[in-house]
Amino acid sequence: MSNDGVLRNLRRQHELRVLAILVERGPCSRRELENATGLSRTTMSAIVADLVRRRAVADDAQRPATGRGRPTTLVRLNPHAAAAVGVELGRGHVSVAVADIARTVLAHVTEPIGMECGLSARMDAALSLLERVVAGRRLALEGLAAAGLGLWGHHPDPRAGGGDPAGDLVVTDLAERLGATLDAPVTWDNNIRLAAVAERYTVESPACADLVYIALSHGVGSGVVVNGTLARGASGTAGEIGHVSVEPSGPPCWCGGRGCLEQYLSIDAVLGRVRAVAPDVADVPGLVAALDRGDRSVRDVVDWSAELLGRALGTVVILLDPHRVVIGGELADLGDHLLDPVRASLARQKLSIRDRRLELRTARISQGAAAVGAALVALDRHSPIHSIAGAPAELPGTGGQRFM
Ligand SMILES: [Zn+2]
Repeated sequence: MSNDGVLRNLRRQHELRVLAILVERGPCSRRELENATGLSRTTMSAIVADLVRRRAVADDAQRPATGRGRPTTLVRLNPHAAAAVGVELGRGHVSVAVADIARTVLAHVTEPIGMECGLSARMDAALSLLERVVAGRRLALEGLAAAGLGLWGHHPDPRAGGGDPAGDLVVTDLAERLGATLDAPVTWDNNIRLAAVAERYTVESPACADLVYIALSHGVGSGVVVNGTLARGASGTAGEIGHVSVEPSGPPCWCGGRGCLEQYLSIDAVLGRVRAVAPDVADVPGLVAALDRGDRSVRDVVDWSAELLGRALGTVVILLDPHRVVIGGELADLGDHLLDPVRASLARQKLSIRDRRLELRTARISQGAAAVGAALVALDRHSPIHSIAGAPAELPGTGGQRFM
């Protein structure tokens, strides 16, 4: 790294430290920031001035005077300052998300897009959506640290670990375009993995350091978060649970295997089996309606799929001991019709090597979760303040084996 590069890097580290302190403590005076960082008044003054110029922070708040002193000017985070943008190019939709330095999602919007659109047209649609969101919510992008891109299919970012080091030219072009538009470094990954990261941070529950996300959609895939980090694997294929064989004599799969989970838990697989006993069930809402009506033969098909999912999950639970298993994708709409028999399957497997608390639930974000995950992954890579602020909270242990 050149001397200039070293200085820029050092400056960036100082900035991140200042921002992390503001995330942790709320508004602070310049003196308090100097004390907390050990930086000189001159350096702090330059850093704060630059952050104010880029609208990452504001210095317009005041702490009332005590005694005969003067009020103290406080530096605070600008609540409209974007630190990262995430873009998801999905099969039938595009989604954009904007997150601030504290990992709070400031905006998340999804729009449908025609299946006939190519990737470049999808990027056009996403960038246009982003422009409208930024203008409508008056977000400040000047302090943007990073951007993330989510795509369907197998697209691990080789620089993030895993994937073909030669890269994927189509994705590299898309990422370069996003980076040039936003003037920020871009990282990318597969939508299902990024959705796992989004589920790691949810409004309702504390950040979860160990989580497995399983998408039951036109295919079956998963994202695995271990110790707060997205697992990518040596060749970028970590989490392909859809191709775990659950029935060695089952139907052949396109991957070359037999009886893969995807052959039982993809939308088409489930609907195909359901139609054999209830020909009028056309789609997932129709399936939910049949289950709500208590159709016994439909129930049996779903129970069998759930049993197979439970078997595959049993191995995952023993191997990774996650806090939380989240079911996403369209089939998550089955809710407890699917989750209850999965819980029963897990309970039958006696997974309690020691006290275990495992939460099994459906995804909080039904569509476009990868946009949120892309923004968060980009932040973790380029503004890693989460080690200072917002560290994963521990779930209280209650003892015993619980599948919630
Ligand atoms: Zn397979």
